[in-house]
Amino acid sequence: MTISIPPKALEALAARDFKMLIDGRWLEAGAAPIERVAPSHGVVVSRFQAGTKADAERAIAAARRAFDTGPWPRMTAAQRSTILLKAADLIAARAEEIVALDVIEAGKPISQVRGEIAGAVDIWRYAAALARDLHGESYNTLGDGTLGVVLREAIGVVSIITPWNFPFLIVSQKLPFAIAAGCTTVVKPSELSSGSTVILGEILQEAGVPDGVVNIVTGTGAEVGAVLTAHPDIDMVSFTGSTGVGKLTMTNAATTLKKVSLELGGKNPQIVFPDADLDAFVDAAVFGAYFNAGECCNAGSRLILHKSIAEEMVARIARLSAEVKVGDPLDPTTQVGAIITPQHFEKIAGYVNAASQAGAQLAHGGGALDLGRGQFMAPTILSGVTRDMAVAREEVFGPVLSVLTFETVEEAISIANAVDYGLSAGVWSRDFDTCLTIGRRIRAGTIWMNTFMDGASELPFGGMKQSGLGRELGRHAVEDYTETKTLNMHIGARTSWWMPQTERLA
Ligand code: NDP
Repeated sequence: MTISIPPKALEALAARDFKMLIDGRWLEAGAAPIERVAPSHGVVVSRFQAGTKADAERAIAAARRAFDTGPWPRMTAAQRSTILLKAADLIAARAEEIVALDVIEAGKPISQVRGEIAGAVDIWRYAAALARDLHGESYNTLGDGTLGVVLREAIGVVSIITPWNFPFLIVSQKLPFAIAAGCTTVVKPSELSSGSTVILGEILQEAGVPDGVVNIVTGTGAEVGAVLTAHPDIDMVSFTGSTGVGKLTMTNAATTLKKVSLELGGKNPQIVFPDADLDAFVDAAVFGAYFNAGECCNAGSRLILHKSIAEEMVARIARLSAEVKVGDPLDPTTQVGAIITPQHFEKIAGYVNAASQAGAQLAHGGGALDLGRGQFMAPTILSGVTRDMAVAREEVFGPVLSVLTFETVEEAISIANAVDYGLSAGVWSRDFDTCLTIGRRIRAGTIWMNTFMDGASELPFGGMKQSGLGRELGRHAVEDYTETKTLNMHIGARTSWWMPQTERLA
């Protein structure tokens, strides 16, 4: 199969130049731009500014000024909420442009990305609603002489660092909540897929976000990201990416004790019992493994199947895997697009080869698909995987499913928990007791029961163990970007510590 590029798509592929947004101005970095080659079509589609350390520092200074003396933190929540709602409308109005950028820069299927951008619009609206509900507490129960008021204050300047796999969706899980709280921000998207985040800067300006509140600095993690995690004027870092860089972020942030929020990798199991709706499960297994080409923190990359159904399930999943449409991400019927870079393709292939050499069997796929351009990988199933193999423990981040088996509930729980990650998990059974027992004992931030990878703006998302720290979305999402301050107020004459009461009253 060869990818043919229809004329309209070619128009979308004409390389586009992007600037950076610092203190309300659109700037170029001094250095040569970063060229992004579309992973699906092999042509340059975007040129991003290669921001420098000095650019990052300028952006941080602008965000600091906007926080310390600017109007944004001092506005009413209703005013901020109105601007966020306007931003949501503008995102919806420019959705197809944003979709096109995420599709061609990240190689994601267009029909999937349309869903992600619609989801992002919903998140911006949800953040706008939460903005007006941010409140503290009062204690009128501390005696006649005391009134306690607990304030929620914006935490300050927040740096936001995002990965390449869900470029617009992930920035939308962070930025609207940070600015809803009254924070100011510096955003660094992945150097591989920065286009849609830069467009978001234009949208926020048009919506009425004042200068300096949202700064967008493109460039590499080593140059820009490192400054954003360590600079003393940053109060909080909100990071999504690999566990390795997440740890580095925490180390850098520790030098000035910044708050950190980390959304990191996963090695998510789906545990399946014989009494489950197996038709529904087979569909969810294929979706969980190959959605976003498996380049997904939530990928259901480990199947833990009851031994009695394992053989049948592997055969059925293999049959369905053969029908998954891998191809041109611009084609609305495509289900799986390209692998992000040739280097990442090699990493995925390395895991598959190592597992095969260690005794796993290739039940489907296993290698490259030659589509004439770009890098594509066949949906791949490895059966007979054991828990000590790297493919069973490490995040492969590709369309690769590892199949393990169990005989007892205890064994299933033990296999599921036997990894460093704890992001999400699925359990499939019609038995209520089985689902709840497993759901309560697996150490992961989200447990799906008889479904997989569903979500909503109302539901908190994040990981346990080495999958992260903190939660995004949900009704506390704005609070995460605040500090708590206690106002302890005295009413009437204060009892002196050293002066006897009688003398004082005399
Ligand atoms: P990386 O950790 O490589 O990069 C994430 C971001 O960090 C990028 O913007 C990157 O910049 C930046 N970065 C790199 N080095 C540094 C540094 N020294 N200091 C500060 N920032 C730095 O992850 P990927 O982009 O490869 O994304 C894939 C990972 O993201 C997977 O592990 C996946 O599980 C995780 N992820 C987690 C999610 C969750 O919610 N739990 C959701 C989605 C993804 P650049 O690359 O431009 O150099």
